Amino acid sequence: MTGSVWAFSRALSSIKTRLISKELANICVPFSAVRCFSVTQARNMKLVQFTYNTKPDEVRAGYMEGDDVVDLNKADGSLPLKLVDILKLDCAVERIAQIKAKKPQGVPLSGVRLEAPITNQDKVIGVGLNYLDHCKEQNLTPPEVPMIFSKFSSVIIGPNDAVKLRTEITQSVDWEVELAVVIGKECTMIDAKDAYNYVLGYTVAQDISARDWQKKKNSGQFILGKSMDTFCPIGPWIVTADEIKDPQCLDIKCTLNSVVKQNSNTCQLIHKIPDVIARLASVMTLYPGDIILSGTPGGVGMHRNPPEFLKPGDKLISEIQSIGTLETRVVKFDQCGCK
Ligand code: ZN
Repeated sequence: MTGSVWAFSRALSSIKTRLISKELANICVPFSAVRCFSVTQARNMKLVQFTYNTKPDEVRAGYMEGDDVVDLNKADGSLPLKLVDILKLDCAVERIAQIKAKKPQGVPLSGVRLEAPITNQDKVIGVGLNYLDHCKEQNLTPPEVPMIFSKFSSVIIGPNDAVKLRTEITQSVDWEVELAVVIGKECTMIDAKDAYNYVLGYTVAQDISARDWQKKKNSGQFILGKSMDTFCPIGPWIVTADEIKDPQCLDIKCTLNSVVKQNSNTCQLIHKIPDVIARLASVMTLYPGDIILSGTPGGVGMHRNPPEFLKPGDKLISEIQSIGTLETRVVKFDQCGCK
């Protein structure tokens, strides 16, 4: 088959799939029979993960209903406990939306502890130098192509967890508030114009970074400075993509001990979200639950005069318009009892 015929055939099959999905949605068939084209249709949800106060070791997925949390597995026993496993199912978001439409009873926030909204994913990918104001504060020309690095997904923590500083090996741990893009559907080799079809939603993140390890102590490779335990707070929830009209037009702010340090807008993003997704997907497969940290605005500690870094006892507040506020305590690594 020639390229153009193949492309036409693929487009036709995609249109057919969408039409069929629409028809099937109206006549209630098993989800396994439905192929879902996009995860971005109107859902209007804040997805969370949480533990019950009575069962602190079992992370479960849910969504916010006002101030209550609805437990997805309790509402539908066929769903796995963790959000990343739910997202692997066909039509996962549609299934959650159907549960929500039935208005099941939630539990009050006081009965649970909010955890990181997505964990155990395949990848956490970062984009460096991706805000104009962050490049300006370093007198750097914006990079022509996105500067991609990674963090280990095991370093993700939630809204009630603390960043733990290994003060014996680093005294230059910095903050970086970031808009995190959460992938909802597997994709590879896609066009930028289709990239939003694969976005589940957005959450607030901190790309915590030990600058000495990021720049010098690992021969210039970012991974160790970016991947110390607890160095990726995210949350408090994932706002589904349909709630965000334009992810590149959101106020973004970071406050340390009540002093505003970063105050910008995602319109400053140099490499836009669809372009970053398409570039990543040109070399790898992105899986449901993968996170892309889209970059941080100006105002980080290392470029202040004098430089400022995190210390035990600090409190970071990270905010993104229309998404939420993530509070993060900072403690010493060997301090016990602070999950
Ligand atoms: Zn960053």
